[in-house]
Amino acid sequence: MAYVYDDTNIFARILRGEIPNKTVYETEHTLAFADIAPKAPAHVLVIPKGPYVTYDHFCAAASAEEIVDFSRAVAEVVKLVGAEAHSGGKGFRAITNAGEHGVQEVPHFHLHILAGRNIGPMILSED
Ligand code: AMP
Repeated sequence: MAYVYDDTNIFARILRGEIPNKTVYETEHTLAFADIAPKAPAHVLVIPKGPYVTYDHFCAAASAEEIVDFSRAVAEVVKLVGAEAHSGGKGFRAITNAGEHGVQEVPHFHLHILAGRNIGPMILSED
């Protein structure tokens, strides 16, 4: 099934400069900004600038340059929030929601980086 990108979504509007954001880090292909409703002391959204709906869409369709740029930006964001678990920081959780079962609200691929407190269990069980 083809991915259909809706360019009226709120992150597309942020990328076009139509609504403000609190930028944490930016490169040619990637933008990282503060989540408007933070779930942890540090809650940053990392997004590609290209029109990708979900993580798998990005992995399948983005160029190698975009994928490397995004990955390096994630590393920079983790460093900026002081959460590098491999070098003394207390770590973080990275989450990406996709589609209906992933309970994705904004249909532009984004990686949540949550840090600054113990984030708790990975998911809630069904019961
Ligand atoms: P998801 O459920 O993974 O699609 O998450 C969407 C996230 O986008 C939520 O954590 C929202 O708080 C966040 N969000 C929605 N609008 C904005 C905005 N204008 N600026 C920053 N974050 C936003």
